[in-house]
This record gives sequence, structure tokens and C-alpha cells, in this order.
Amino acid sequence: MHPETLSIHAGYDHDPETRAVAVPIYQTVAYAFDDARHGAALFDLAEEGNIYTRIMNPTCAVLERRVAALEGGSGGLAVSAGSAAIFYAVANIARAGQNIISVPQLYGGTWTLFAHMLPRLGVEVRFAADDRAESLAALADKNTRAFFCESVGNPAGNVADLSALADAAHSAGVPLMVDNTVPSPALTRPIEHGADVVLHSLTKYMGGHGNSLGGMIVESGNFPWEKDASRWPEITAPEPAYHGAVFAEARRATRDPFCIRARVVSLRNTGAALSPFNAFLILQGLETLHLRMAKCCENALRVAEHLRGHPRAEWVNYAGLAEHPHHALALRYAEGRPGSILTFGARGGYEGGARFHDALKLFKRLVNIGDVRSLACHPASTTHRQLTDEERRAAGVSPETIRLCVGTENIQDILADLDQALDAAG
Ligand code: PLP
Repeated sequence: MHPETLSIHAGYDHDPETRAVAVPIYQTVAYAFDDARHGAALFDLAEEGNIYTRIMNPTCAVLERRVAALEGGSGGLAVSAGSAAIFYAVANIARAGQNIISVPQLYGGTWTLFAHMLPRLGVEVRFAADDRAESLAALADKNTRAFFCESVGNPAGNVADLSALADAAHSAGVPLMVDNTVPSPALTRPIEHGADVVLHSLTKYMGGHGNSLGGMIVESGNFPWEKDASRWPEITAPEPAYHGAVFAEARRATRDPFCIRARVVSLRNTGAALSPFNAFLILQGLETLHLRMAKCCENALRVAEHLRGHPRAEWVNYAGLAEHPHHALALRYAEGRPGSILTFGARGGYEGGARFHDALKLFKRLVNIGDVRSLACHPASTTHRQLTDEERRAAGVSPETIRLCVGTENIQDILADLDQALDAAG
């Protein structure tokens, strides 16, 4: 089936009991066992079924199947937020004394996790100087556990060369993890280009209406954990945190040992579970993902073209523009439409950026992306405030940078609001 069809139908037909066509909200904490044998089989991962909503839930399960299908993965794990998905994915295979290697262009929260939180837990994050595969490869050693990138960086707007990064990660013997939040699978499917683990903030374009937090881990089912088994004991050896289960052997047919481990070790014991109500709202959003993405990208290109020639804008950065250095990558990986986030420089440095931001009327001033509403943010005063100047530059943020996330409103209204705010900012 085609992606537009999968986003409506994958993972659910109708409820067998009631014949409900909309996905029911299973607002329950626990599930009844037939008897002790049944409970034991569920805990042993020998039978599929539900135990407790911190670990699994039927509404969330539809979302897991649907996003996994959209990404072309073998399985998915829904969690409470994109941030939890990223943390669980890294924690799944990296422990104290080991390292991961990341591109520098990251969402601010991910950057803080990598630069400050993970090192406190003993996991080193080596930031490459840029997003080129050679730059990441140069930092790898025997303790490296993964390469990490965003398919399209937020807010930098760089388009990762996914197949080159996957080749480099695989040469180092490790998986490539890709945060695919910005283009969403409507535009980019990293697994088709060699990625092994795909991460999402479902909060953004997938849900699409700015009303629900959610996150997802999807695995490709292709990474050969058992080929170098001694390097991946988390997947191939008995797990003490789950009464000695070997995840590579658990439900072998489903080919999702990475997600099984994240579910029954990290999620079970730390509890960043997705609410079934949020899963329902995100499923509603997913049904129109392709329509929204097409309109958001069409509007984003119009905005980028408008700002490019605008006397009050110093520069504009959108890889959908033909002159952008990553336009060829955008054509290769995102059909030339790398999402609807773009940055531009307002005149007047930090103050000019802040004045423009404050003068907006239609655009919402907030720190979110991927809504039907047009959104604006001044990263230097918000998302990237805690970074040093040098760190901000590496993340693609300068004092005057404004990040726009263009929504689905009429383009004339969007352009009129930008023009009046640029005029007001002087
Ligand atoms: N990844 C990207 C690219 C993001 O933009 C965000 C949030 O803005 C996240 C991850 C974190 O997602 P959440 O807010 O759902 O925790």
C-alpha cells in the first residue's frame, strides 16, 4: 500500500467485538489474565497480549503498527514524548564507559540531553564538527554504540545524507539512529536509506494539531545484532532486568528485539508511557498527515521565496530553495520538500529578531513545530538560550535567527503577517 493509504489504514481495520471503525480509546490500566499460566506466558513474552498500560495498550499498539508501517520498519514502541523516545533508544544499547556519535545540528532538548545528561550517566556523546559522514566516522572507536542525526535538523534545516551516514555507521559496526520528526515519513523514510532506528516526536507533524505529546521508536529489523553478538549483549544475551530473557530470541518472527527491550526494560521500569487518549488524537492527526505536509511545504516554499527578496530580511535558510547547499540532498531524501521549518535573519541582531517576533499577529509565538497553525520562535531567547555562542553557531542559530514553522493557512494571510512584523521591527 502507498503511504497515504497506510496513514489511514495500517495496523487497524475495525474492532472485532463492536465493529467500531474509529480506533477505540482503551482507557484502562490493566488487563485480566485467564489464569496463572496465561499471565506467565505474557510475562515470558511467549504469547502476545496485554499486561499493564505502562508497558502496552491496544490504542497505542495501533499507533505503533501504523507508524512502523509508514516508516517501513519491523516494529515500533510508543512513548510519552519524543524526548523519551530518544533517551530510551540511546539507553537501550549504550551504558557508562561507552559513547555515541552525533551530528551537531540538533533540536535544543536533544542537544542538552547529549551534552549534559548522558555524560553524567557515563555515556559520552561525541559531537562531530559537521554532519558529513566522514566527520562522524573519524570519531568512532570500539566503544561506539550508535551514530545519531536528525533527517532534517531543527532548526538548522540541514538535510542529512542518510545513506552515507548509514554506510559510515555500518562500517563502524553500529546502528544509525535518525530523528525523523521534521520531514515525517510523508516526505522521508530513513529506513529506505539504511537507517536502523527511527525516532519521532509525534507531538509535531504526525499529530499535527499541537494538542498531544507523544514519541515513537521504530526499528528497521535489519541490523545484524547476532552477527557480532558479543558486542550487543543487550539484545543477544540474557537480560538480568527481565528475568534472563534474550530479546534476539523473543518472538523472533517479529524482528523487533530493539523495541521489545526498550519496552520491557526502559519503559516498564521508568514509565514514560503514552496515554491512550493522546494515541487516539495522534492517530486522528496521522490520517491527514500527507495532505497537511503537502500544504505546509507549499506554503513554506512561498514564504522562503518571499523572504529571499525582502529588503528587511538579511538571509533565509530553507533547503527547498534551489540555491541552498543542501537542495540536492533535499531532492534526494525529501522530494525537494524538507518540511515546513525555515529560518531567516531579521535585521538588527538579537534585538531585531526579538522585535520581529513580538510584532507577529497571526503566527503564534511559541516553542513547537508541526502544527496546522503557523508558528514562530526566536531560538536565541528560548530553545537555544542555554547554549554558549559557539554551541549555538554549531546548531545553526545566530542571535537574529527566527525559526518559522509554516502551517496550512491561506498564503496571503501568512505573507501579510510576516510583512507587517518586518515593517514593525524596522
Ligand atoms: N526531536 C525534534 C526534532 C524536536 O523538534 C523535538 C521537540 O521540539 C523533539 C525531538 C522532542 O519531542 P517532544 O517535545 O515530543 O519530547
